[in-house]
Amino acid sequence: MHPLLKRQLKRLGLTDPKIPLSSGNWSQLLERISHTYIEADQGRELLERSLALSSKEMQQLYDNLRQTSEHRLQNIQEKNQNLIENALDGIIGINAEGIITIWNPQAAKIFGWSPYAALGKDLAETIIPPSFREAHRQGLKRFNESRQGTIINQRIELMALHHEGREFPIEVALIPIFEDTTYEFIAFVRDISESKQTELALRTSEERFRKIFSQSNDAIFLINPEQGTILDVNSKASAMLGYSKTELLQTSISQIHPTEMDLLQSFFKKVLQEGHGWTDQLTCTTKSGNCLLAEISASVMSIAGKTSLVALVRDITQRKEAEQALRQAKNAAEQAAKAKSEFLATMSHEIRTPMNGIIGMTGLLLNTELTSQQHQFAETVKKSGEALLTIINDILDFSKIESGKLDFETIDFDLRVAMEDTLDLIAEKAGSANLELVGCVDSPVPTALRGDPGRFRQVLLNLISNAIKFTKEGEVTVRIALLEETSEAATIKVRVQDTGIGIDPLAQQSIFQPFQQADNSTTRQFGGTGLGLAICKKFVERMGGTIGVESQVGQGSTFWFTAQLFKQPQAPSVLPNKDLQGLRICCIDDHPVNRQLLEEYAKTWGMSATSASTPAEALGLIQRAHERKEPFHIAIVDMEMPGMDGMALAREIKANPQLAKIRLLLLSPLGQRIDAKEAKAAGFLGYLTKPIRQTVLKHSLETIMGLKTGNLQHSDTPIVTPFSSLESEKTGRYPILVVDDHQVNQQLAVLLIERLGYRTDVAANGQEAVEACSTNPYSLVFMDCHMPVMDGYDATKKIREMESMKREAKEKDSPDPLPLTPDGTLHVPIIAMTANALSGDREKCLQAGMDDYLPKPIRPDGLTQILEKWLCSGPIKMDRGKRESYE
Ligand code: ADP
Repeated sequence: MHPLLKRQLKRLGLTDPKIPLSSGNWSQLLERISHTYIEADQGRELLERSLALSSKEMQQLYDNLRQTSEHRLQNIQEKNQNLIENALDGIIGINAEGIITIWNPQAAKIFGWSPYAALGKDLAETIIPPSFREAHRQGLKRFNESRQGTIINQRIELMALHHEGREFPIEVALIPIFEDTTYEFIAFVRDISESKQTELALRTSEERFRKIFSQSNDAIFLINPEQGTILDVNSKASAMLGYSKTELLQTSISQIHPTEMDLLQSFFKKVLQEGHGWTDQLTCTTKSGNCLLAEISASVMSIAGKTSLVALVRDITQRKEAEQALRQAKNAAEQAAKAKSEFLATMSHEIRTPMNGIIGMTGLLLNTELTSQQHQFAETVKKSGEALLTIINDILDFSKIESGKLDFETIDFDLRVAMEDTLDLIAEKAGSANLELVGCVDSPVPTALRGDPGRFRQVLLNLISNAIKFTKEGEVTVRIALLEETSEAATIKVRVQDTGIGIDPLAQQSIFQPFQQADNSTTRQFGGTGLGLAICKKFVERMGGTIGVESQVGQGSTFWFTAQLFKQPQAPSVLPNKDLQGLRICCIDDHPVNRQLLEEYAKTWGMSATSASTPAEALGLIQRAHERKEPFHIAIVDMEMPGMDGMALAREIKANPQLAKIRLLLLSPLGQRIDAKEAKAAGFLGYLTKPIRQTVLKHSLETIMGLKTGNLQHSDTPIVTPFSSLESEKTGRYPILVVDDHQVNQQLAVLLIERLGYRTDVAANGQEAVEACSTNPYSLVFMDCHMPVMDGYDATKKIREMESMKREAKEKDSPDPLPLTPDGTLHVPIIAMTANALSGDREKCLQAGMDDYLPKPIRPDGLTQILEKWLCSGPIKMDRGKRESYE
């Protein structure tokens, strides 16, 4: 029953269907039914109305809902798009056919394809390298069939292809997104080229360090300094100590250094406090109980936040043994070298003594009447003896250098005099070889210097001797220039230039080594020991300089050296003397360097100098000067010139009354004597010998101009030649003994003394001097004080002892075949020659029994004074300077 009817019936109390209806009830029922219908209609109406209402609401609701969801969807899409656009990874979508559907800007950046170019393309053809394309296609096919793939939903590394064609590594995460029956892959891509490179670098570096660690020749220990435990070791450590790596990792270092644990512990403490490393030598004990000496270098480092110690340990047992052996060998070698040097010194002394005898006696022999053949033989003996002596002296010098016994003096000397002295020593040799020898000190060079003039001369002499030895024709020029000057010192450069055989570049590198010669063949043309330049090098180095050579084969050589020398505190003024100022001089010499030198010297004195290279040119110059009314005051004429010699030129000038007034000075060839009479007859007022000494030249010019005496030198004044006194001197006196260990000093003293007309003997040390005095009588002895073997003081004492013994013997009237001194006083004057300018030195010499004192370097005037003082009846009364002044 319809519930509404049921309700109306219930209201009428007609709940029991079997109750018969009354008419009241019936009309009520009908009313009620009608009412129910009305209610039903109302209800339906209401329902319809509310239905209509709710459907409208529903529509509205639906519209709202749709709008909201569309909006949300759009938002999501925009977000997604944003995400894709701005993602830091490349995002690529591909469909089931492998066609690109998504390609974000980062993907464009990674692969070089723009989105427009990539979208719609087959992925395989775009970014997969050709060698992987087939695999990719197969994978895709498999996935299509089985919906399964090995590279899905994980990060993998692959090789990709860039638009430019290069392959590079990428990291990819591939996610499939299913939609109905189909799907799409989304790939998230990263370019990992950089991280791969870093990884590779890291791997390489790690491998390198692992190799260093494992293959190191040193044992490496990683130690925990707090506990002294070993954290890691390399295989060398195991090999060194005889433990396996595992054993070592369980070992404390106290086991390895049982005796030095206290030291190590204090070190560890320090390390932990201060964080410094440390190096030391420690004893290690091996597993078998052997001890070895190890050098340990430990450094501190923080590994994983913990302070650790890395110790590099090297077994130096063998090295120490080798060092010990080396030390012993070195000591032995030094002993041997010392013994060798001493042997050489003794040998050279032993050889030198008879050599001096040979040379001295040959000298005496040459002064006697000899046939020309005998004279020639004796000359040869003397020359050979001198050559041998040079070799011995070289060896002695060299052995002194080798054994570090080379003494260097620091005394005042004049650089120009030292150079000119050296040229003098060698002039004769140059002259007899027909070579021009010229020396020049540039005007800015300070000449009052302090140093060792003996060594300086020795170097110079050696270089000039070599130059002469290796030059057949031409010239040898010495030039001293200034390199640097301070208020206290000067650095000079000396150049010795020759026109000789030259030296090839290879030999140039070795000739400064001992015993090296440019020509080492057995058929060598030139003698020598090959020691000269090695000695020069050492001497030059001691003078704070360097030595070298520039040379071309066949063109000649220039040997040069530099030296740093102190300037004398109160150096004499080197300003030019004004006496010769303004005088006109004509320098006539065919040799350009000589002309240049003469002109330079003349100009230094304020003269007006012109030069001519031939007699004809000179005659023209002199004639024209006369016509200009500016006649030359002086002409210096070289003796040897092609075409017409100096004598003939002088005669021609003097034959012309217009020119005859000119004062003539003759330049004699090197080492040759001039016939003074002939020179005077030709019109010369004086002559000079080459090499030209600046001081002597100046003195001569002043003399012939009358500046010395106030009177002009004229043709009636006797011409005095440098050697005229010697020519007349044939002294019967005993010789003078020169005792000096420096060869050059020795030669120089001999030269100066012999120029004064005395004969000389030489001894190289005190012992040689004593021996010489015991067998020969001497007029006087010049005794160097500091010498090897026996010094001058001891030698003097010995000589004096010998003299007193002879005196005693004489008193006892015993026959003495050898008078000690010519005057029979049995007291030979001994004159100290020493560079020691210290006060008290003179007293020391006198105390030793010497008679007087001649300071070094020896100067001609000082020497003359001493000789005049001690040999009052001396052979000549004029010193060299005076003789050369033509007074
Ligand atoms: P020595 O002359 O005794 O052999 P040095 O040490 O003085 O020894 O010289 C070494 C070598 O250098 C000489 O043998 C020679 O070959 C070469 N030499 C030296 N000076 C000259 C020079 N001026 N011209 C050519 N060669 C030279």
